[in-house]
Order: sequence, then structure tokens, then C-alpha cells
Amino acid sequence: MTSSDLHRFGDIGVARRREAPCSRALSPTRLPGLDHALNPYRGCAHACVYCYAPSLTHVPWDEWPEALPKRGLLRLLERELRHAAGTIGVGTVTDPYQPLEAETGLTRGCLELISRSNARACVHTKSDLVLRDADLLRGMEAGVTVTTLDDAVSRKLEPGAPLPGRRLKALQGLAAAGVDAFAMVGPALSCLAGGERELMEAIAAAGVRTVMVDPLNLRPDRRAELEASGLGPASAASLDRLRREASSLGLICRDAF
Ligand code: SF4
Repeated sequence: MTSSDLHRFGDIGVARRREAPCSRALSPTRLPGLDHALNPYRGCAHACVYCYAPSLTHVPWDEWPEALPKRGLLRLLERELRHAAGTIGVGTVTDPYQPLEAETGLTRGCLELISRSNARACVHTKSDLVLRDADLLRGMEAGVTVTTLDDAVSRKLEPGAPLPGRRLKALQGLAAAGVDAFAMVGPALSCLAGGERELMEAIAAAGVRTVMVDPLNLRPDRRAELEASGLGPASAASLDRLRREASSLGLICRDAF
């Protein structure tokens, strides 16, 4: 990446698009396995009804679906990477593969910088746009969330995110490209009851070796929204079944967070 690329990325759409202010690229994180957190956007067009990130980041819920690229992010990241090592979680708060990312390439720019540093990335997304960056992610980690196989449920819960079939294809493409790809079932929801085997079979068929199940990631402030959709957290029995089915299919199954 040249300095003119940094200028291009760092000043994305100044004249035509709103950006979020940004004073540093990398943040500390307590998430297991991660040394730093990086979130190229503020807000998320996927607009999941169970998302608790707006309350964590103090962004009003009605503003959250407008994803804003962070101003000057690549310049900051380039500087901070000189002193950073370990694993950088990309997308710990906001999905780094916003629909806008296809145009801006901001997350890709971050991955280019990370790939030339002493750090490595662990990306987390619901979007198959991640496949575009498989070349940079080879030797790194990428997780794709699959909460259901039912398109109608997904449209209701995650109205701005790619449908489950596209996410499974993304996992397949990442695994085939040599990326350390994993599936995330989270938050695990009551709609999975009775379909645990089918979900784990679909994940295993995508060729990944690891699946993470997130039983906890449902904050009280989002529970009401979810219940309004006729859903709640997965029962303990359903969580057990998810883990058992995953193991029986040869998947390494870990609880997330
Ligand atoms: S993809 Fe993640 S950050 Fe985006 S709305 Fe859904 S839960 Fe929130």
C-alpha cells in the first residue's frame, strides 16, 4: 500500500459521505484470545434485532444501521502497528464487512497493513464479502456467524445481513482458500430447537473444523426486542444438543466468550 492509497482510504468520501471521528485504531480488549480490537466502522447496516452494540458504544438505536467509516483510520493503524503484536480482533463491536465495504475497501486496507506487520487478524462477520479478502486472510482466522438456516427467520432477525446460505458458502470458500475459518452460532436462539443436527451438518459440510456456540451474548436490553419476534435464548437442552451434534460430526465445539 502506498501513501497515496492511505490518503485515498483515510479520506473516504469526505465530500460526499459522513464519517465517524477516530482518535486511535486499536483498542484494548478482554475478549479471550485477542490482544487488540479494531472496528473500522461505527454502526452496522445488518441491524440485527438482538444487537447490543449500540448500548455498549452509546450510539442511539435509530442511528446504528447507518454504518460510518472511521476517519483517518488507516493512517492511525499504520502508526500503531509499529508497536503492536499478537492477535487483532477485527469486528469485535461492529461487523467489518458492511455493504459499504464493497465500495470503500476500508477493512481490506486494514488487513493489508496487518498482513505486513508483526500482528495477525481474527475477523468476525456475518457477510460473505469476507471472501473477497481470502488472499489476505490466509494463515489468519475468520469467523462467520450462522444463527439459523431459515431464511425467513434470518430476514426477521438480521434484516440487513446476507442470508444463511451465503454465509455457509463464505465459510466454504474461506476454508478452501486456506483460511483458519470457524463458524459462530451466536446468539444461540430458541428457534434452533429440533434443528441442531441440521445446523451442525451444514456447518461441517462447509469444511470448517471449529464451531463456537455463544449461549450468553444476549443482553437484557435486547431481550424484549427478540421476544417481540417470538424468540428467546436457546434452552440449556438445546445448547447441549448443539455441542453434542457438533462433536459427533468431528467439529471442535467451543463456547464463545
Ligand atoms: S452484525 Fe453484529 S454489529 Fe451488526 S447489527 Fe448484527 S449483531 Fe450488531
